[in-house]
Amino acid sequence: MKTINTFLNEPNKFLIIAGPCALESEDQMRYILNETGNTNVFRAGIFKMRTNPNSFQGLGVKGQQIIKDLKKEFDFEFVTEITDPRQIEMLDEVVDMYQIGSRNMYNYDLLKELNSLNKPVLLKRAFSATVNEWLNAAEYMPQLGEEKIILCERGIRTFETSTRNTLDLNSVIYLKQTTNFKVLVDPSHASGIKSMIEPLSLAAIACGADGLLVETHPNPSEALSDKEQQINCTDFRELKNKLSLYSKIANKEII
Ligand code: PEP
Ligand code: MN
Repeated sequence: MKTINTFLNEPNKFLIIAGPCALESEDQMRYILNETGNTNVFRAGIFKMRTNPNSFQGLGVKGQQIIKDLKKEFDFEFVTEITDPRQIEMLDEVVDMYQIGSRNMYNYDLLKELNSLNKPVLLKRAFSATVNEWLNAAEYMPQLGEEKIILCERGIRTFETSTRNTLDLNSVIYLKQTTNFKVLVDPSHASGIKSMIEPLSLAAIACGADGLLVETHPNPSEALSDKEQQINCTDFRELKNKLSLYSKIANKEII
Protein backbone atom coordinates (compact mmCIF):
# COMPACT_ATOMS: atom_id res chain seq x y z
CA MET A 1 0.00 0.00 0.00
CA LYS A 2 1.21 3.51 -0.76
CA THR A 3 2.32 5.65 2.17
CA ILE A 4 -0.60 8.12 2.26
CA ASN A 5 -3.11 5.27 2.22
CA THR A 6 -1.21 3.40 4.91
CA PHE A 7 -1.20 6.56 6.98
CA LEU A 8 -4.93 7.08 6.57
CA ASN A 9 -5.88 3.48 7.21
CA GLU A 10 -3.52 2.21 9.88
CA PRO A 11 -3.15 3.52 13.42
CA ASN A 12 0.03 4.86 15.03
CA LYS A 13 1.80 6.06 11.90
CA PHE A 14 3.69 9.35 11.88
CA LEU A 15 3.82 10.85 8.38
CA ILE A 16 6.65 13.19 7.50
CA ILE A 17 6.20 15.23 4.33
CA ALA A 18 9.28 17.09 3.07
CA GLY A 19 10.01 19.41 0.21
CA PRO A 20 10.58 22.97 -0.84
CA CYS A 21 8.15 25.83 -0.35
CA ALA A 22 8.06 26.27 -4.13
CA LEU A 23 9.15 23.99 -6.94
CA GLU A 24 11.95 25.97 -8.58
CA SER A 25 13.63 23.51 -10.96
CA GLU A 26 14.00 19.83 -11.77
CA ASP A 27 17.49 19.79 -10.25
CA GLN A 28 16.18 21.24 -7.00
CA MET A 29 13.51 18.55 -6.69
CA ARG A 30 15.81 15.71 -7.76
CA TYR A 31 18.27 16.73 -5.05
CA ILE A 32 15.51 16.70 -2.44
CA LEU A 33 14.31 13.27 -3.61
CA ASN A 34 17.83 11.89 -3.34
CA GLU A 35 18.91 13.49 -0.08
CA THR A 36 15.99 13.15 2.32
CA GLY A 37 16.63 9.49 3.19
CA ASN A 38 13.61 7.18 3.49
CA THR A 39 11.01 9.81 2.81
CA ASN A 40 8.10 8.83 0.56
CA VAL A 41 5.78 11.81 0.43
CA PHE A 42 6.94 15.15 -0.91
CA ARG A 43 5.53 18.64 -1.15
CA ALA A 44 6.40 21.52 -3.48
CA GLY A 45 4.31 24.51 -4.48
CA ILE A 46 3.53 24.72 -8.18
CA PHE A 47 1.01 27.55 -7.81
CA LYS A 48 2.06 29.87 -5.02
CA MET A 49 -0.42 32.20 -3.30
CA ARG A 50 1.93 35.06 -2.48
CA THR A 51 0.86 38.07 -0.45
CA ASN A 52 2.84 40.32 -2.79
CA PRO A 53 1.81 39.91 -6.45
CA ASN A 54 5.37 40.72 -7.55
CA SER A 55 6.83 37.75 -5.62
CA PHE A 56 7.61 34.42 -7.35
CA GLN A 57 4.26 32.82 -8.21
CA GLY A 58 5.44 29.26 -8.92
CA LEU A 59 6.29 27.44 -12.15
CA GLY A 60 2.69 26.46 -13.01
CA VAL A 61 2.40 24.14 -16.04
CA LYS A 62 6.18 23.77 -16.27
CA GLY A 63 6.22 22.54 -12.67
CA GLN A 64 3.62 19.89 -13.42
CA GLN A 65 5.80 18.57 -16.24
CA ILE A 66 8.82 18.39 -13.91
CA ILE A 67 6.91 16.28 -11.39
CA LYS A 68 5.51 14.10 -14.16
CA ASP A 69 9.04 13.40 -15.43
CA LEU A 70 10.45 12.78 -11.94
CA LYS A 71 7.66 10.33 -11.17
CA LYS A 72 9.00 8.13 -14.00
CA GLU A 73 12.40 8.13 -12.32
CA PHE A 74 11.49 8.01 -8.60
CA ASP A 75 8.78 6.27 -6.59
CA PHE A 76 7.20 9.02 -4.49
CA GLU A 77 3.84 10.54 -3.66
CA PHE A 78 3.25 14.21 -4.29
CA VAL A 79 1.30 16.86 -2.40
CA THR A 80 0.74 20.33 -3.78
CA GLU A 81 -1.55 23.25 -3.18
CA ILE A 82 -4.45 23.81 -5.54
CA THR A 83 -5.65 27.40 -5.72
CA ASP A 84 -8.30 27.21 -8.44
CA PRO A 85 -10.62 24.42 -9.71
CA ARG A 86 -9.33 25.08 -13.24
CA GLN A 87 -6.00 23.53 -12.18
CA ILE A 88 -7.58 20.12 -11.50
CA GLU A 89 -7.24 18.78 -15.02
CA MET A 90 -3.52 19.44 -15.07
CA LEU A 91 -2.70 18.62 -11.44
CA ASP A 92 -4.71 15.43 -11.14
CA GLU A 93 -2.14 13.53 -13.20
CA VAL A 94 0.68 14.16 -10.70
CA VAL A 95 -1.06 14.81 -7.38
CA ASP A 96 -1.63 12.10 -4.75
CA MET A 97 -3.00 14.50 -2.15
CA TYR A 98 -4.30 18.03 -2.72
CA GLN A 99 -3.33 20.76 -0.31
CA ILE A 100 -5.74 23.53 0.58
CA GLY A 101 -3.65 26.46 1.73
CA SER A 102 -4.39 28.72 4.64
CA ARG A 103 -5.62 31.47 2.32
CA ASN A 104 -8.14 29.13 0.71
CA MET A 105 -9.65 27.36 3.71
CA TYR A 106 -12.77 29.48 3.25
CA ASN A 107 -12.94 28.87 -0.51
CA TYR A 108 -15.96 26.59 -0.27
CA ASP A 109 -16.44 26.19 -4.03
CA LEU A 110 -12.90 24.86 -4.28
CA LEU A 111 -13.53 22.49 -1.36
CA LYS A 112 -16.70 21.20 -3.02
CA GLU A 113 -14.76 20.46 -6.21
CA LEU A 114 -12.19 18.45 -4.26
CA ASN A 115 -14.96 16.59 -2.48
CA SER A 116 -16.04 15.07 -5.79
CA LEU A 117 -12.52 13.94 -6.77
CA ASN A 118 -12.18 11.39 -3.97
CA LYS A 119 -8.45 12.01 -3.42
CA PRO A 120 -7.03 12.77 0.03
CA VAL A 121 -6.96 16.46 0.99
CA LEU A 122 -4.55 18.19 3.34
CA LEU A 123 -6.65 21.00 4.78
CA LYS A 124 -4.56 23.76 6.30
CA ARG A 125 -6.07 25.98 8.93
CA ALA A 126 -6.69 29.57 7.86
CA PHE A 127 -4.42 31.79 9.96
CA SER A 128 -7.40 33.45 11.61
CA ALA A 129 -9.83 30.52 11.74
CA THR A 130 -11.18 29.06 14.95
CA VAL A 131 -10.99 25.28 15.24
CA ASN A 132 -14.73 25.22 14.73
CA GLU A 133 -14.50 27.15 11.44
CA TRP A 134 -11.73 24.79 10.35
CA LEU A 135 -13.92 21.76 11.08
CA ASN A 136 -16.77 23.43 9.21
CA ALA A 137 -14.53 23.75 6.17
CA ALA A 138 -13.86 19.99 6.39
CA GLU A 139 -17.61 19.43 6.38
CA TYR A 140 -17.73 20.88 2.86
CA MET A 141 -16.05 17.61 1.81
CA PRO A 142 -18.43 15.00 3.28
CA GLN A 143 -17.43 12.30 0.80
CA LEU A 144 -13.87 12.49 2.07
CA GLY A 145 -14.64 12.92 5.76
CA GLU A 146 -12.31 11.81 8.53
CA GLU A 147 -11.06 8.96 6.32
CA LYS A 148 -9.53 11.16 3.63
CA ILE A 149 -9.09 14.65 5.08
CA ILE A 150 -5.92 15.40 6.98
CA LEU A 151 -5.94 18.61 9.02
CA CYS A 152 -2.78 20.70 9.16
CA GLU A 153 -2.09 23.17 11.98
CA ARG A 154 0.23 25.81 10.51
CA GLY A 155 0.15 28.54 13.12
CA ILE A 156 -2.33 31.32 13.71
CA ARG A 157 -2.04 35.07 13.71
CA THR A 158 -1.92 36.48 17.24
CA PHE A 159 -0.74 39.76 18.79
CA GLU A 160 2.77 38.23 18.87
CA THR A 161 5.08 39.42 16.10
CA SER A 162 8.44 37.91 17.12
CA THR A 163 7.63 34.82 15.07
CA ARG A 164 5.75 34.61 11.77
CA ASN A 165 2.75 32.93 13.42
CA THR A 166 1.99 31.25 16.74
CA LEU A 167 1.82 27.45 16.64
CA ASP A 168 -1.46 26.50 18.29
CA LEU A 169 -0.65 23.11 19.79
CA ASN A 170 -3.86 23.37 21.82
CA SER A 171 -5.70 22.76 18.56
CA VAL A 172 -3.75 19.56 17.93
CA ILE A 173 -4.54 18.17 21.37
CA TYR A 174 -8.16 19.32 21.13
CA LEU A 175 -8.69 17.75 17.71
CA LYS A 176 -7.05 14.47 18.74
CA GLN A 177 -9.27 14.32 21.82
CA THR A 178 -12.54 15.20 20.12
CA THR A 179 -12.37 14.01 16.48
CA ASN A 180 -10.96 11.12 14.45
CA PHE A 181 -9.08 13.35 12.02
CA LYS A 182 -5.39 12.85 11.43
CA VAL A 183 -3.61 16.08 12.33
CA LEU A 184 -0.29 17.25 10.93
CA VAL A 185 1.80 20.17 12.13
CA ASP A 186 3.65 22.58 9.85
CA PRO A 187 6.41 24.05 12.04
CA SER A 188 7.85 25.96 9.07
CA HIS A 189 4.98 28.38 8.46
CA ALA A 190 4.09 28.35 12.16
CA SER A 191 7.39 29.92 13.19
CA GLY A 192 9.03 31.25 10.04
CA ILE A 193 12.41 30.55 11.68
CA LYS A 194 14.53 27.51 10.77
CA SER A 195 16.13 27.09 14.20
CA MET A 196 12.64 26.60 15.66
CA ILE A 197 11.68 23.69 13.37
CA GLU A 198 13.22 20.95 15.51
CA PRO A 199 11.87 22.00 18.93
CA LEU A 200 8.40 22.62 17.49
CA SER A 201 8.46 19.24 15.75
CA LEU A 202 9.34 17.47 18.98
CA ALA A 203 6.59 19.39 20.78
CA ALA A 204 4.14 18.36 18.05
CA ILE A 205 4.82 14.64 18.45
CA ALA A 206 4.54 15.00 22.22
CA CYS A 207 1.11 16.62 21.77
CA GLY A 208 -0.19 13.71 19.72
CA ALA A 209 0.27 15.07 16.19
CA ASP A 210 0.17 12.42 13.46
CA GLY A 211 2.92 13.93 11.38
CA LEU A 212 4.73 16.94 10.02
CA LEU A 213 4.99 19.07 6.91
CA VAL A 214 8.53 20.43 6.81
CA GLU A 215 9.84 22.86 4.21
CA THR A 216 13.14 21.50 2.98
CA HIS A 217 15.39 23.12 0.36
CA PRO A 218 18.80 22.17 -1.10
CA ASN A 219 20.11 25.64 -0.33
CA PRO A 220 17.64 27.64 1.76
CA SER A 221 19.53 30.93 1.57
CA GLU A 222 18.88 30.96 -2.17
CA ALA A 223 15.24 29.90 -2.05
CA LEU A 224 12.81 31.96 -4.12
CA SER A 225 10.30 31.97 -1.25
CA ASP A 226 10.32 31.45 2.51
CA LYS A 227 14.13 31.25 2.74
CA GLU A 228 14.23 31.97 6.49
CA GLN A 229 12.19 28.91 7.43
CA GLN A 230 13.43 26.18 5.08
CA ILE A 231 15.96 23.67 6.36
CA ASN A 232 18.57 21.88 4.27
CA CYS A 233 18.61 18.11 3.73
CA THR A 234 21.32 17.44 6.32
CA ASP A 235 19.26 19.21 8.97
CA PHE A 236 16.18 17.36 7.76
CA ARG A 237 17.85 13.96 8.20
CA GLU A 238 19.03 15.00 11.64
CA LEU A 239 15.49 16.06 12.52
CA LYS A 240 14.21 12.65 11.45
CA ASN A 241 16.79 10.92 13.63
CA LYS A 242 15.76 12.99 16.64
CA LEU A 243 12.10 12.32 15.94
CA SER A 244 12.69 8.59 15.76
CA LEU A 245 13.76 8.66 19.43
CA TYR A 246 10.60 10.52 20.42
CA SER A 247 8.40 8.36 18.21
CA LYS A 248 9.21 5.37 20.41
CA ILE A 249 7.79 7.19 23.44
CA ALA A 250 4.77 8.31 21.42
CA ASN A 251 4.31 4.76 20.14
CA LYS A 252 4.35 5.89 16.51
CA GLU A 253 6.11 4.56 13.46
CA ILE A 254 7.61 7.18 11.18
CA ILE A 255 6.60 6.71 7.55
C1 PEP B 1 2.46 26.10 1.94
O1 PEP B 1 2.42 25.12 2.70
O2 PEP B 1 3.03 26.06 0.85
C2 PEP B 1 1.82 27.36 2.34
C3 PEP B 1 1.75 28.39 1.52
O3 PEP B 1 1.35 27.36 3.59
P1 PEP B 1 0.07 28.15 4.18
O4 PEP B 1 -1.04 27.95 3.20
O5 PEP B 1 -0.14 27.46 5.48
O6 PEP B 1 0.50 29.58 4.31
MN1 MN C 1 6.22 28.31 2.21
